[in-house]
Amino acid sequence: MSKNNSIVIKGLHQNNLKDVSLSIPKGKIIVFTGVSGSGKSSIVFDTIAAESQRQMNETYSAFIRSRLPKYEKPKVDFIDHLNASVIIDQSRLQGNARSTVGTISDLYSALRLLFSRIGQPTLGSASAFSFNDPKGMCPHCFGLGKVVELDLSTSLDPDKSMREGMIDLPAFHPGNWYYKQYAESGLFDLDKPLRDYSETEYNLLMYGAKEKGGKQVHKRIEGIYNHMSRLLINRDHASASDVSKKRLASMIQQRDCPVCMGKRLHEKVLRCKINGYHIAELSDMEFLELREVLQQINDPRAQTILDTLCAALTRMIEIGLPYLSMNRESSTLSGGEAQRLKLVRYMGSSLTGLTYIFDEPSTGMHPRDVYRMTRLLKSLRDRGNTVLVVEHDKDVIRIADEVIDVGPLAGVNGGQITFQGTYEQLLVSHTLTGDAMRELIPLKTKPRPAIEFLPIKDAHLHNLKHLSVDIPLHILTVVTGVAGSGKSTLIGDVFSKMYADRVVMIDQSPITATGRSTPATFLDFSNDIRRLMADASQAEAAMFSFNSKGACPHCNGKGIVVTELVFMDPVTTVCEACEGKRYSEAALSYHYQGKNIAQIMEMSVEEAISFFASSAKIQRRLKSLAEVGLSYLSLGQPLSTLSGGERQRLKLAKHLHRKGTIFVLDEPTTGLHASDCKEIMKLLEGFVRQGNTVIIIEHNLDVMKQADYIIDIGPDGGTAGGEVVFTGTPQEMVERSNTITAQYLKKACG
Ligand code: ADP
Ligand code: ADP
Ligand code: ZN
Ligand code: ZN
Repeated sequence: MSKNNSIVIKGLHQNNLKDVSLSIPKGKIIVFTGVSGSGKSSIVFDTIAAESQRQMNETYSAFIRSRLPKYEKPKVDFIDHLNASVIIDQSRLQGNARSTVGTISDLYSALRLLFSRIGQPTLGSASAFSFNDPKGMCPHCFGLGKVVELDLSTSLDPDKSMREGMIDLPAFHPGNWYYKQYAESGLFDLDKPLRDYSETEYNLLMYGAKEKGGKQVHKRIEGIYNHMSRLLINRDHASASDVSKKRLASMIQQRDCPVCMGKRLHEKVLRCKINGYHIAELSDMEFLELREVLQQINDPRAQTILDTLCAALTRMIEIGLPYLSMNRESSTLSGGEAQRLKLVRYMGSSLTGLTYIFDEPSTGMHPRDVYRMTRLLKSLRDRGNTVLVVEHDKDVIRIADEVIDVGPLAGVNGGQITFQGTYEQLLVSHTLTGDAMRELIPLKTKPRPAIEFLPIKDAHLHNLKHLSVDIPLHILTVVTGVAGSGKSTLIGDVFSKMYADRVVMIDQSPITATGRSTPATFLDFSNDIRRLMADASQAEAAMFSFNSKGACPHCNGKGIVVTELVFMDPVTTVCEACEGKRYSEAALSYHYQGKNIAQIMEMSVEEAISFFASSAKIQRRLKSLAEVGLSYLSLGQPLSTLSGGERQRLKLAKHLHRKGTIFVLDEPTTGLHASDCKEIMKLLEGFVRQGNTVIIIEHNLDVMKQADYIIDIGPDGGTAGGEVVFTGTPQEMVERSNTITAQYLKKACG
């Protein structure tokens, strides 16, 4: 094989990688394995993908480049023979309410074209069918299909008077600013309970006017409804705290537009039909059903469009999305669903010689669907592309032409190539991945009995079919079912809202948007470190914060300096003054036990445990980090650089010593190696032993085997799902159930 048949990397030092050199054959499926934090993404995303995109961007003019995303040059001595790359990751699909599965996949434009060709009566042009076009949109909701309304009922107590705290909104609590404005306006009887208000009094309170929409009576009294609408609607609540987010969400009600009934389109558009269906009916249909309807249409004028549409729908169905419809808002798709949608988009393309890069494509997929997805990966390869996959799922690793295992462990204890070879060679290798592939995890022998329950009655959100089910307390329950069966709807939406005050959701989503959070700030011991340093040195505690007095004056505590150039990309360089340490010279001149603040923040959790032996609180926090397997992280590592699995464990560390809480985890094994999964399961078992309840939504068969209790939702996805098809222990599932999940669980028992 000649040299340029392989991607060649020499001397790679990105993140935790230890002088890695690699040759990756092209035209094959290469699967990268290894424990979470071992360095897989640092190779695949931060190096191969970033460098390939960066080189592609350099071929554009400066003007276009300034509009493209920026990719940092990876820390590598030599890298060559890269192909153009396509990254298919799990980042959520961006988009506002106008972006739907239909619009982003182009299926909706094909459907519009179909209606403009053969819809009756004819409307002419295809843009008339677009809810994003003034000609086609419903004039009431402007094509959104939804209207937003404020519901203050949970914030008003009809039995109380204003003085007694009738308005349960912080600014309106007796004595506070707005309360005083209202109380002193002379418009209200402060001792009259809300229930006794006349219509005019009520309108004054809500709208500041005698009737809704009328003239404001008092210049300071805007009305609580108007006040809150102004504050809440169309505002970005991303920065609100979790508590206030829940509160805000309960006040804002979204409902279907009363004019178009959520169909988004102008009524004249809905009169135009094909075989009795208008365009909104077809875009509401699940793909499986839609394909059947389209196959019934027989019209030579539209045969090409019909063929294109049906082929695209078939790809959607085959990748495990038969339950989606064109009308689904893209922002409501899960990360796994978004990734599959992106994959489908590329399946239609005939480009060859590209490198396709996937981040755990099995995420959110039932074992049944993983097989179909691997067929698509193979067909990408067979068309002459290179397919790089970061993956933990055994069924995906199995299709690799070559496996590259990164390890042996995470962080500073990883960063090396521990194996490169075929799947068969991996099976007999001495690697954690090889061990995991050989190991057969048994069904739990003594599941805890389900005795106490929290009931869910008549749930009917999304596809749930008025289902009732009892969720067991104090044990470990796994909720299973094929993708789209309704697991997240049941647990994430219905159950968590019903029992919100007792539920803690632990997911892998990013922790904060700021670049300034670190393990030390997240677990709330950075102030303690500063105080220790202040006490030891007689300086102010603020001196030890790069957000405050201690910031390097040159870069303002950012550690980097961005130089804007007129005709070229801005250049980011490490700050010369502090060499990226973020602290001022003065701050760095103080020492605690021989180390300055920057050196302390660079310490790993493990080192810090012995360093801070004298402080009980810092010790406790550090030990919780070690307990969740994060002893290799440094105290000051920006949280934005953590992997999903690392973030999840960090969140678990925060709750490690709780009791009586219900923990809900949605696919906690995403991003985790089989050996990481064992650690997480041990941790969750510990939570249950301490008196907590754990509910896990999972596809991973090894996790199901270790459940006390399984609730299986099905029988299939979308409208074919939404029912409880099994409840009981894993042993009972294997013995007496024949659901799709049960069939795969049986197989996994060897
Ligand atoms: P994997 O993909 O195998 O889970 P990663 O390549 O994401 O692992 O990470 C390898 C190690 O490098 C982890 O310990 C991670 O915390 C660390 N890391 C990743 N990105 C950065 C960064 N930008 N700065 C510092 N450390 C990083
Ligand atoms: P699972 O968690 O089992 O994969 P979900 O609960 O996500 O399934 O989805 C169940 C059904 O509800 C699917 O048909 C899905 O398309 C639909 N659904 C989920 N979320 C939404 C939403 N925000 N809006 C409309 N439909 C949704
Ligand atoms: Zn409307
Ligand atoms: Zn600096």
